[in-house]
Amino acid sequence: MDDDRIAVLRRDFPILERRVNDRPLVYLDSAASGQMPEAVMAAVDDYRRHHHANVHRGAHTLSAEATDRYEAARARVARFLGAPDPRGVVFTRNATEALNLVAHAYGRSRMQPGDEVLVTVAEHHANLVPWHLLAQDHGVVVKGVGLGADGRVDLDALEAAIGPRTKIVATFHVSNVLGYVQPLRRIADAAHAVGALCVVDGAQAAPHVAIDVAAAGVDAYAFSGHKVGGPTGIGALWMRPDVLETLPPFLGGGEMIRKVEVDRSTYADIPMRFEAGTPAIAEAIGLAAALDYLDGVGMDAIWDHDRELVARALRGLDALDGVETYGPRGPDRGGIVPFNVVGVHPHDVASFLDAEGIAVRAGHHCAQPLMKALGVASTARASFWLYTTRAEVDGFVAAVAGVRDFFAGAVEPVA
Ligand code: PLP
Repeated sequence: MDDDRIAVLRRDFPILERRVNDRPLVYLDSAASGQMPEAVMAAVDDYRRHHHANVHRGAHTLSAEATDRYEAARARVARFLGAPDPRGVVFTRNATEALNLVAHAYGRSRMQPGDEVLVTVAEHHANLVPWHLLAQDHGVVVKGVGLGADGRVDLDALEAAIGPRTKIVATFHVSNVLGYVQPLRRIADAAHAVGALCVVDGAQAAPHVAIDVAAAGVDAYAFSGHKVGGPTGIGALWMRPDVLETLPPFLGGGEMIRKVEVDRSTYADIPMRFEAGTPAIAEAIGLAAALDYLDGVGMDAIWDHDRELVARALRGLDALDGVETYGPRGPDRGGIVPFNVVGVHPHDVASFLDAEGIAVRAGHHCAQPLMKALGVASTARASFWLYTTRAEVDGFVAAVAGVRDFFAGAVEPVA
Protein backbone atom coordinates (compact mmCIF):
# COMPACT_ATOMS: atom_id res chain seq x y z
CA MET A 1 0.00 0.00 0.00
CA ASP A 2 1.41 3.40 -0.84
CA ASP A 3 1.73 6.23 1.66
CA ASP A 4 -1.42 7.99 0.42
CA ARG A 5 -3.52 4.88 0.88
CA ILE A 6 -2.20 4.43 4.42
CA ALA A 7 -2.89 8.08 5.20
CA VAL A 8 -6.50 7.55 4.12
CA LEU A 9 -6.85 4.37 6.20
CA ARG A 10 -5.39 6.07 9.26
CA ARG A 11 -8.34 8.46 9.28
CA ASP A 12 -10.54 5.48 10.13
CA PHE A 13 -8.72 5.05 13.47
CA PRO A 14 -9.43 8.02 15.75
CA ILE A 15 -6.96 6.91 18.40
CA LEU A 16 -4.07 7.42 16.00
CA GLU A 17 -4.57 11.17 16.41
CA ARG A 18 -3.56 10.93 20.05
CA ARG A 19 -0.43 12.38 21.48
CA VAL A 20 1.53 10.46 24.09
CA ASN A 21 4.17 12.16 26.17
CA ASP A 22 3.76 15.23 24.01
CA ARG A 23 4.59 13.32 20.83
CA PRO A 24 2.33 11.88 18.15
CA LEU A 25 1.41 8.34 19.13
CA VAL A 26 3.35 5.70 17.19
CA TYR A 27 1.41 2.54 17.96
CA LEU A 28 3.64 -0.48 17.40
CA ASP A 29 1.78 -2.92 19.63
CA SER A 30 -0.91 -4.17 17.27
CA ALA A 31 0.08 -7.80 17.90
CA ALA A 32 -1.19 -7.35 21.46
CA SER A 33 -4.37 -5.53 20.43
CA GLY A 34 -5.14 -3.89 17.12
CA GLN A 35 -6.75 -0.47 17.13
CA MET A 36 -10.41 -0.22 16.26
CA PRO A 37 -11.73 1.45 13.11
CA GLU A 38 -14.63 3.87 13.35
CA ALA A 39 -16.86 1.42 11.41
CA VAL A 40 -16.64 -1.09 14.26
CA MET A 41 -17.56 1.53 16.85
CA ALA A 42 -20.47 2.61 14.65
CA ALA A 43 -21.75 -0.97 14.27
CA VAL A 44 -21.62 -1.57 18.03
CA ASP A 45 -23.21 1.80 18.71
CA ASP A 46 -26.01 1.20 16.21
CA TYR A 47 -26.77 -2.17 17.77
CA ARG A 48 -26.80 -0.72 21.28
CA ARG A 49 -28.95 2.26 20.37
CA HIS A 50 -31.47 0.56 18.12
CA HIS A 51 -31.52 -3.22 18.37
CA HIS A 52 -30.32 -4.34 21.79
CA ALA A 53 -32.15 -7.25 23.43
CA ASN A 54 -31.28 -10.79 24.41
CA VAL A 55 -30.87 -13.28 21.57
CA HIS A 56 -32.64 -16.55 20.76
CA ARG A 57 -35.20 -16.10 23.52
CA GLY A 58 -37.82 -13.53 22.77
CA ALA A 59 -40.69 -13.46 20.33
CA HIS A 60 -40.52 -9.68 20.22
CA THR A 61 -39.08 -7.53 17.45
CA LEU A 62 -35.93 -6.34 19.19
CA SER A 63 -34.97 -9.86 20.19
CA ALA A 64 -35.48 -11.03 16.61
CA GLU A 65 -33.33 -8.14 15.32
CA ALA A 66 -30.59 -8.88 17.84
CA THR A 67 -30.71 -12.58 16.95
CA ASP A 68 -30.54 -11.86 13.21
CA ARG A 69 -27.51 -9.63 13.70
CA TYR A 70 -25.79 -12.08 16.02
CA GLU A 71 -26.31 -14.99 13.64
CA ALA A 72 -25.24 -12.85 10.68
CA ALA A 73 -22.01 -12.19 12.61
CA ARG A 74 -21.50 -15.93 12.92
CA ALA A 75 -21.96 -16.38 9.18
CA ARG A 76 -19.52 -13.49 8.62
CA VAL A 77 -16.87 -15.20 10.74
CA ALA A 78 -17.39 -18.43 8.78
CA ARG A 79 -16.91 -16.56 5.52
CA PHE A 80 -13.75 -14.85 6.83
CA LEU A 81 -12.30 -18.25 7.70
CA GLY A 82 -13.32 -19.94 4.44
CA ALA A 83 -15.61 -22.28 6.38
CA PRO A 84 -18.59 -23.45 4.36
CA ASP A 85 -20.89 -24.16 7.33
CA PRO A 86 -21.49 -21.48 10.01
CA ARG A 87 -22.59 -24.21 12.44
CA GLY A 88 -18.88 -24.82 12.97
CA VAL A 89 -18.41 -21.32 14.43
CA VAL A 90 -18.70 -20.95 18.21
CA PHE A 91 -18.37 -17.49 19.73
CA THR A 92 -16.00 -17.43 22.68
CA ARG A 93 -14.43 -14.69 24.78
CA ASN A 94 -11.13 -14.89 22.89
CA ALA A 95 -8.68 -17.31 21.27
CA THR A 96 -7.65 -18.57 24.69
CA GLU A 97 -11.16 -19.69 25.54
CA ALA A 98 -11.56 -21.25 22.08
CA LEU A 99 -8.47 -23.41 22.58
CA ASN A 100 -9.58 -24.35 26.10
CA LEU A 101 -12.92 -25.40 24.62
CA VAL A 102 -11.21 -27.84 22.25
CA ALA A 103 -8.92 -29.20 24.95
CA HIS A 104 -11.81 -29.65 27.33
CA ALA A 105 -14.54 -30.97 25.04
CA TYR A 106 -12.42 -33.04 22.67
CA GLY A 107 -9.63 -33.95 25.07
CA ARG A 108 -11.83 -35.21 27.87
CA SER A 109 -14.30 -37.08 25.68
CA ARG A 110 -12.11 -38.49 22.93
CA MET A 111 -8.65 -38.96 24.38
CA GLN A 112 -7.38 -41.70 26.67
CA PRO A 113 -4.57 -41.52 29.22
CA GLY A 114 -1.32 -41.96 27.32
CA ASP A 115 -2.66 -40.33 24.14
CA GLU A 116 -0.47 -37.53 22.88
CA VAL A 117 -0.82 -33.85 22.03
CA LEU A 118 2.00 -32.59 19.85
CA VAL A 119 2.78 -28.87 20.16
CA THR A 120 5.60 -26.64 18.97
CA VAL A 121 8.09 -24.77 21.11
CA ALA A 122 6.86 -21.51 19.57
CA GLU A 123 3.30 -21.65 20.89
CA HIS A 124 1.68 -18.87 22.87
CA HIS A 125 0.80 -20.10 26.36
CA ALA A 126 -2.84 -20.14 25.18
CA ASN A 127 -1.95 -23.13 23.02
CA LEU A 128 0.12 -24.85 25.71
CA VAL A 129 -1.53 -24.48 29.09
CA PRO A 130 -4.95 -25.92 28.07
CA TRP A 131 -3.08 -29.07 26.98
CA HIS A 132 -1.10 -29.07 30.23
CA LEU A 133 -4.36 -28.96 32.18
CA LEU A 134 -5.58 -31.90 30.12
CA ALA A 135 -2.35 -33.74 30.87
CA GLN A 136 -2.70 -33.10 34.61
CA ASP A 137 -6.25 -34.29 35.07
CA HIS A 138 -6.69 -36.68 32.15
CA GLY A 139 -3.28 -38.31 31.78
CA VAL A 140 -2.54 -37.29 28.20
CA VAL A 141 1.06 -36.60 27.25
CA VAL A 142 2.16 -33.26 25.78
CA LYS A 143 5.19 -33.40 23.50
CA GLY A 144 6.99 -30.47 21.90
CA VAL A 145 8.87 -29.91 18.65
CA GLY A 146 11.73 -27.42 18.53
CA LEU A 147 13.15 -24.97 16.02
CA GLY A 148 15.25 -26.03 13.04
CA ALA A 149 18.45 -24.42 11.79
CA ASP A 150 16.48 -21.79 9.82
CA GLY A 151 14.72 -20.52 12.95
CA ARG A 152 11.35 -21.96 11.99
CA VAL A 153 9.66 -24.89 13.69
CA ASP A 154 11.38 -28.06 12.45
CA LEU A 155 8.63 -29.65 10.38
CA ASP A 156 10.66 -32.77 9.62
CA ALA A 157 10.95 -33.32 13.37
CA LEU A 158 7.25 -32.59 13.75
CA GLU A 159 6.36 -35.22 11.15
CA ALA A 160 8.74 -37.68 12.78
CA ALA A 161 7.21 -37.06 16.21
CA ILE A 162 3.69 -37.93 15.05
CA GLY A 163 2.88 -41.49 16.03
CA PRO A 164 0.01 -43.87 16.69
CA ARG A 165 -0.78 -42.22 20.06
CA THR A 166 -0.93 -38.70 18.59
CA LYS A 167 -4.49 -37.41 18.75
CA ILE A 168 -3.92 -33.65 18.42
CA VAL A 169 -1.28 -31.63 16.61
CA ALA A 170 -1.61 -28.07 17.89
CA THR A 171 0.18 -25.23 16.16
CA PHE A 172 0.17 -21.49 15.65
CA HIS A 173 -0.65 -20.13 12.19
CA VAL A 174 1.45 -16.97 12.62
CA SER A 175 3.86 -16.87 15.57
CA ASN A 176 3.39 -13.93 17.94
CA VAL A 177 7.18 -13.68 18.32
CA LEU A 178 8.78 -15.09 15.17
CA GLY A 179 6.12 -13.53 12.94
CA TYR A 180 6.17 -16.15 10.21
CA VAL A 181 3.36 -18.20 8.68
CA GLN A 182 3.22 -21.88 9.45
CA PRO A 183 2.47 -24.09 6.41
CA LEU A 184 -0.76 -25.54 7.76
CA ARG A 185 -1.52 -27.95 4.94
CA ARG A 186 1.66 -29.94 5.53
CA ILE A 187 0.96 -30.17 9.28
CA ALA A 188 -2.70 -31.07 8.78
CA ASP A 189 -1.78 -33.81 6.30
CA ALA A 190 0.77 -35.25 8.73
CA ALA A 191 -1.80 -35.20 11.57
CA HIS A 192 -4.49 -36.81 9.43
CA ALA A 193 -2.14 -39.60 8.36
CA VAL A 194 -2.54 -41.03 11.89
CA GLY A 195 -6.13 -39.89 12.39
CA ALA A 196 -5.15 -36.94 14.62
CA LEU A 197 -6.73 -33.48 14.51
CA CYS A 198 -4.84 -30.34 13.52
CA VAL A 199 -5.82 -27.55 15.94
CA VAL A 200 -4.68 -24.07 14.98
CA ASP A 201 -4.12 -20.97 17.07
CA GLY A 202 -4.87 -18.26 14.51
CA ALA A 203 -4.77 -15.30 16.92
CA GLN A 204 -1.87 -13.63 15.08
CA ALA A 205 -2.82 -14.81 11.61
CA ALA A 206 -6.35 -13.41 11.52
CA PRO A 207 -5.21 -9.75 11.39
CA HIS A 208 -2.57 -10.36 8.74
CA VAL A 209 -3.23 -13.18 6.28
CA ALA A 210 -6.15 -14.54 4.31
CA ILE A 211 -7.44 -17.68 6.02
CA ASP A 212 -9.01 -20.67 4.32
CA VAL A 213 -9.58 -23.48 6.79
CA ALA A 214 -11.04 -25.71 4.09
CA ALA A 215 -8.03 -25.34 1.78
CA ALA A 216 -5.61 -25.74 4.70
CA GLY A 217 -7.45 -28.90 5.71
CA VAL A 218 -7.30 -28.07 9.42
CA ASP A 219 -9.84 -29.29 11.98
CA ALA A 220 -10.10 -26.37 14.41
CA TYR A 221 -9.12 -22.71 14.24
CA ALA A 222 -9.18 -20.09 17.02
CA PHE A 223 -8.85 -16.31 16.93
CA SER A 224 -9.62 -13.16 18.95
CA GLY A 225 -11.69 -10.11 18.04
CA HIS A 226 -9.43 -7.52 19.63
CA LYS A 227 -6.51 -8.40 17.36
CA VAL A 228 -8.53 -7.86 14.16
CA GLY A 229 -9.82 -4.40 15.07
CA GLY A 230 -12.89 -5.72 16.86
CA PRO A 231 -13.89 -5.39 20.51
CA THR A 232 -12.36 -7.25 23.43
CA GLY A 233 -14.48 -10.00 25.00
CA ILE A 234 -15.21 -11.77 21.73
CA GLY A 235 -13.37 -14.45 19.81
CA ALA A 236 -14.27 -17.49 17.82
CA LEU A 237 -13.57 -21.15 17.47
CA TRP A 238 -14.24 -22.80 14.17
CA MET A 239 -14.28 -26.57 14.35
CA ARG A 240 -15.24 -29.10 11.70
CA PRO A 241 -19.00 -29.46 12.25
CA ASP A 242 -18.88 -33.26 11.91
CA VAL A 243 -16.42 -33.37 14.84
CA LEU A 244 -17.99 -30.58 16.87
CA GLU A 245 -21.41 -32.22 16.85
CA THR A 246 -19.96 -35.32 18.51
CA LEU A 247 -18.53 -33.40 21.48
CA PRO A 248 -20.04 -32.80 24.92
CA PRO A 249 -20.59 -29.25 26.19
CA PHE A 250 -17.79 -27.16 27.65
CA LEU A 251 -19.93 -24.98 29.96
CA GLY A 252 -23.48 -25.60 31.13
CA GLY A 253 -26.43 -23.24 31.58
CA GLY A 254 -29.07 -21.43 29.59
CA GLU A 255 -29.16 -21.40 25.77
CA MET A 256 -27.15 -24.61 25.35
CA ILE A 257 -29.85 -27.13 26.33
CA ARG A 258 -32.58 -29.08 24.60
CA LYS A 259 -34.44 -30.26 27.72
CA VAL A 260 -33.72 -29.85 31.42
CA GLU A 261 -35.17 -31.84 34.28
CA VAL A 262 -34.22 -31.39 37.85
CA ASP A 263 -31.70 -34.20 37.77
CA ARG A 264 -30.52 -34.26 34.14
CA SER A 265 -30.36 -32.37 30.88
CA THR A 266 -29.90 -32.93 27.19
CA TYR A 267 -28.07 -30.51 24.99
CA ALA A 268 -28.75 -28.31 22.00
CA ASP A 269 -27.32 -28.85 18.54
CA ILE A 270 -24.14 -27.08 17.52
CA PRO A 271 -23.14 -24.33 17.76
CA MET A 272 -25.55 -23.41 20.59
CA ARG A 273 -24.36 -26.39 22.64
CA PHE A 274 -21.11 -24.52 23.20
CA GLU A 275 -22.55 -21.08 23.97
CA ALA A 276 -23.90 -21.28 27.50
CA GLY A 277 -25.54 -18.15 28.86
CA THR A 278 -26.06 -14.78 27.22
CA PRO A 279 -23.30 -14.25 24.66
CA ALA A 280 -21.35 -11.07 23.87
CA ILE A 281 -23.89 -9.86 21.32
CA ALA A 282 -22.66 -6.32 20.64
CA GLU A 283 -19.09 -7.60 20.54
CA ALA A 284 -19.93 -10.29 17.98
CA ILE A 285 -21.57 -7.63 15.81
CA GLY A 286 -18.47 -5.47 16.24
CA LEU A 287 -16.28 -8.40 15.25
CA ALA A 288 -18.26 -8.90 12.06
CA ALA A 289 -17.84 -5.19 11.25
CA ALA A 290 -14.08 -5.53 11.82
CA LEU A 291 -13.92 -8.44 9.37
CA ASP A 292 -15.89 -6.38 6.83
CA TYR A 293 -13.34 -3.61 7.30
CA LEU A 294 -10.35 -5.92 6.82
CA ASP A 295 -11.82 -7.54 3.74
CA GLY A 296 -12.59 -4.05 2.42
CA VAL A 297 -8.92 -3.15 2.71
CA GLY A 298 -7.94 -6.58 1.38
CA MET A 299 -6.08 -9.24 3.35
CA ASP A 300 -3.48 -9.65 0.61
CA ALA A 301 -2.77 -5.91 0.61
CA ILE A 302 -2.46 -5.95 4.41
CA TRP A 303 -0.08 -8.90 4.37
CA ASP A 304 2.09 -7.33 1.66
CA HIS A 305 2.25 -4.14 3.70
CA ASP A 306 3.13 -5.99 6.92
CA ARG A 307 5.87 -7.92 5.17
CA GLU A 308 7.36 -4.80 3.62
CA LEU A 309 7.44 -3.03 6.99
CA VAL A 310 9.05 -5.97 8.76
CA ALA A 311 11.75 -6.23 6.09
CA ARG A 312 12.34 -2.48 6.45
CA ALA A 313 12.53 -2.62 10.26
CA LEU A 314 14.85 -5.64 10.22
CA ARG A 315 17.14 -3.94 7.69
CA GLY A 316 17.31 -0.89 9.94
CA LEU A 317 17.78 -2.73 13.23
CA ASP A 318 20.27 -5.24 11.82
CA ALA A 319 22.45 -2.34 10.71
CA LEU A 320 22.76 -1.18 14.33
CA ASP A 321 25.63 -2.53 16.43
CA GLY A 322 24.41 -3.57 19.83
CA VAL A 323 20.89 -4.49 18.67
CA GLU A 324 19.77 -8.10 18.22
CA THR A 325 16.73 -9.23 16.28
CA TYR A 326 15.12 -12.66 16.28
CA GLY A 327 13.14 -14.87 13.96
CA PRO A 328 13.59 -16.25 10.47
CA ARG A 329 14.01 -14.05 7.41
CA GLY A 330 11.88 -14.51 4.34
CA PRO A 331 8.69 -13.62 2.51
CA ASP A 332 6.65 -15.70 4.97
CA ARG A 333 7.40 -13.17 7.72
CA GLY A 334 5.39 -10.05 8.49
CA GLY A 335 3.98 -7.82 11.17
CA ILE A 336 6.25 -8.61 14.12
CA VAL A 337 9.82 -7.71 15.08
CA PRO A 338 11.26 -8.95 18.39
CA PHE A 339 14.53 -7.30 19.36
CA ASN A 340 16.87 -6.49 22.21
CA VAL A 341 19.33 -3.70 22.83
CA VAL A 342 22.29 -5.64 24.20
CA GLY A 343 22.77 -5.08 27.92
CA VAL A 344 19.51 -3.14 28.33
CA HIS A 345 16.42 -4.71 29.86
CA PRO A 346 13.56 -4.75 27.32
CA HIS A 347 11.29 -3.00 29.82
CA ASP A 348 13.76 -0.11 29.90
CA VAL A 349 13.82 -0.10 26.10
CA ALA A 350 10.01 0.04 26.03
CA SER A 351 9.93 2.83 28.64
CA PHE A 352 12.41 4.93 26.72
CA LEU A 353 10.48 4.45 23.50
CA ASP A 354 7.25 5.33 25.30
CA ALA A 355 8.80 8.61 26.36
CA GLU A 356 8.99 9.33 22.63
CA GLY A 357 5.38 8.32 22.05
CA ILE A 358 6.32 4.91 20.62
CA ALA A 359 4.32 1.97 22.03
CA VAL A 360 6.10 -1.40 21.93
CA ARG A 361 5.71 -4.46 24.12
CA ALA A 362 8.38 -6.03 26.32
CA GLY A 363 8.51 -9.35 28.12
CA HIS A 364 8.27 -13.03 27.31
CA HIS A 365 5.17 -12.48 25.13
CA CYS A 366 3.44 -15.48 26.75
CA ALA A 367 5.97 -17.68 24.97
CA GLN A 368 8.38 -18.78 27.68
CA PRO A 369 9.44 -22.04 25.95
CA LEU A 370 10.29 -20.05 22.82
CA MET A 371 12.28 -17.49 24.82
CA LYS A 372 14.29 -20.39 26.22
CA ALA A 373 14.82 -21.80 22.72
CA LEU A 374 16.02 -18.39 21.55
CA GLY A 375 18.36 -18.15 24.53
CA VAL A 376 16.83 -14.97 25.97
CA ALA A 377 14.72 -14.21 29.03
CA SER A 378 12.61 -11.64 27.22
CA THR A 379 12.59 -9.24 24.27
CA ALA A 380 11.07 -5.98 23.18
CA ARG A 381 8.61 -6.41 20.33
CA ALA A 382 7.42 -3.94 17.71
CA SER A 383 4.40 -4.97 15.69
CA PHE A 384 2.91 -3.33 12.64
CA TRP A 385 -0.44 -3.32 10.98
CA LEU A 386 -2.31 -1.79 8.12
CA TYR A 387 -2.11 1.75 9.57
CA THR A 388 1.63 1.68 10.31
CA THR A 389 3.59 4.03 8.05
CA ARG A 390 7.07 3.66 6.62
CA ALA A 391 8.01 6.90 8.40
CA GLU A 392 6.91 5.40 11.72
CA VAL A 393 9.11 2.36 11.13
CA ASP A 394 12.09 4.56 10.26
CA GLY A 395 11.44 6.74 13.33
CA PHE A 396 11.24 3.65 15.50
CA VAL A 397 14.61 2.35 14.22
CA ALA A 398 16.19 5.75 14.91
CA ALA A 399 14.68 5.77 18.40
CA VAL A 400 16.12 2.31 19.13
CA ALA A 401 19.53 3.62 18.06
CA GLY A 402 18.96 6.49 20.49
CA VAL A 403 18.18 4.10 23.33
CA ARG A 404 21.32 2.12 22.58
CA ASP A 405 23.44 5.32 22.50
CA PHE A 406 21.90 6.61 25.70
CA PHE A 407 22.70 3.45 27.64
CA ALA A 408 26.16 3.17 26.09
CA GLY A 409 26.88 6.73 27.26
CA ALA A 410 25.23 6.25 30.63
CA VAL A 411 27.57 3.39 31.51
CA GLU A 412 30.70 5.24 32.55
CA PRO A 413 33.90 3.17 32.77
CA VAL A 414 34.96 2.64 36.39
CA ALA A 415 38.12 4.72 37.02
N1 PLP B 1 -2.19 -16.98 20.52
C1 PLP B 1 -1.34 -16.05 20.06
C2 PLP B 1 -0.37 -16.44 19.00
C3 PLP B 1 -1.37 -14.76 20.57
O1 PLP B 1 -0.52 -13.85 20.13
C4 PLP B 1 -2.32 -14.46 21.57
C5 PLP B 1 -2.36 -13.11 22.20
O2 PLP B 1 -1.39 -12.44 22.31
C6 PLP B 1 -3.19 -15.45 22.00
C7 PLP B 1 -3.11 -16.71 21.45
C8 PLP B 1 -4.20 -15.22 23.06
O3 PLP B 1 -5.12 -14.27 22.66
P1 PLP B 1 -6.24 -13.81 23.70
O4 PLP B 1 -5.51 -13.26 24.87
O5 PLP B 1 -7.02 -12.80 22.97
O6 PLP B 1 -7.03 -15.03 24.03
